[in-house]
Amino acid sequence: GVHFKGLLKRNWLLIATIFSVVLGISLGIVVREYASLSNLHKQYFGFPGEILMRMLKLVILPLIISSMITGVAALDSEVSGKIGLRAVIYYFSTTIIAVVLGIILVMTIKPGVSQTADHIDREGTTPNVTTVDTLLDLIRNMFPENLVQACFQQYKTKRKELEPLKVSINTTTIPPLTTTFPPLTTTIMSVVENITKEYKIVGTYSDGINVLGLIVFCVAFGLVIGKMGEKGRILLEFFDALNEATMRLVHIIMCYMPVGILFLIAAKIIEVEDWEIFKKMGLYMVTVLSGLAIHATICLPLIFFVIVRKNPYTFTLGMAQALVTALMISSSSATLPVTFRCAEENNRIDKRITRFVLPVGATINMDGTALYEAVAAIFIAQLNDYHLDVGQIVTISITATVASIGAAGVPNAGLVTMVIVLTAVGLPANDVTLIVAVDWLLDRFRTMINVLGDAYGASIVQKLSKNELDRMDLISDVDVANPF
Ligand code: ASP
Repeated sequence: GVHFKGLLKRNWLLIATIFSVVLGISLGIVVREYASLSNLHKQYFGFPGEILMRMLKLVILPLIISSMITGVAALDSEVSGKIGLRAVIYYFSTTIIAVVLGIILVMTIKPGVSQTADHIDREGTTPNVTTVDTLLDLIRNMFPENLVQACFQQYKTKRKELEPLKVSINTTTIPPLTTTFPPLTTTIMSVVENITKEYKIVGTYSDGINVLGLIVFCVAFGLVIGKMGEKGRILLEFFDALNEATMRLVHIIMCYMPVGILFLIAAKIIEVEDWEIFKKMGLYMVTVLSGLAIHATICLPLIFFVIVRKNPYTFTLGMAQALVTALMISSSSATLPVTFRCAEENNRIDKRITRFVLPVGATINMDGTALYEAVAAIFIAQLNDYHLDVGQIVTISITATVASIGAAGVPNAGLVTMVIVLTAVGLPANDVTLIVAVDWLLDRFRTMINVLGDAYGASIVQKLSKNELDRMDLISDVDVANPF
């Protein structure tokens, strides 16, 4: 009875969400056609959607902290080490697969060959972000110097000698991008701002939260609590209760989701000024989207099937709510609460695994972003008639991987870390402006694949860790999956 009702309720929510996507798109088109809203009114229109985003972001902090600490403390250090290693191997290999797939596609389809990048002004200094910088910043972020600051403050690099990066955009020479596309100008500006803001881009910050730093701290903290025995129990109970309370909040937020999403997507449709650009960029978009589609429907399911021996598509279906959310809000971090619910409740992945693997995955495992960065870099090379040798293509695969790890789970993060890939092979970094116009759409799809990759990862790691988990169930005096 109760179980069936729960099942019905979950599906109801999914149906309502998908319905609201369709309704939102239609509403957006109608308002576009028949009402000419002022910019201010457009903003008001998106307000219910803005509230949804704020609520989702709000629960990220307690969710990450409580899930990581309890997740780690419930396992002994040897087991969590093994699980962590398996997760990292999974993240790495699937990201590489995605990159290789992207490279193969873009080299076969050649979306940039018939076009040129001549209409873009390339003056300005080339940003000097290097792969080493990215890696160092990544590691630096793992050790926040102040825990409270890590929860809300933006990253400032220690290395003062680094020149701020400047990307100049000549607004007169790119009419389709800036004059007919006002929101784009703001996007470019925020890209530039992010680049100049002392490497905030390569920090793994999600909306000002140093997620990676918190994760590292929580892993250490959880390990220590797990070893403290009776004394640690009170802390473990506290964080477990916090986790449960947060997940209940997530459930309430999810009920608001159909409303928020309706206005979010409608406002976006009203806001986009130039649809013509999609025609121009058509082949490029087809390349990215087909790469993402192949990764999601063939590569990941194949790995899943070989290891887990279950139907991968049923699994994907179980993640539907999270995938729609990711598609609508283009942020893996903000989708994390929904990813948790889908993975644990629909796909029944062990909480000891999800609590551990999902927050880390949302921060560093981005298959979609990696694929996208490789495709975009080679596309830009093709536009410039720039021949890439084998060494440079290898460089692109490595830097695209690093760039995807370094990108935060927030909208357009992948676009910004593109700079690393471009500069590594000597392409002009400000050519990022060539692909900005369509990024809001591609971002949604790559975020969806990022989230799907995390979910598959959790299930695969669970399967690979079956022995350890079973053994723990046997020797443990408490039910560790639900310790209290
Ligand atoms: N928006 C993506 C995410 O949150 C990151 C990206 O821009 O590629 O996963």
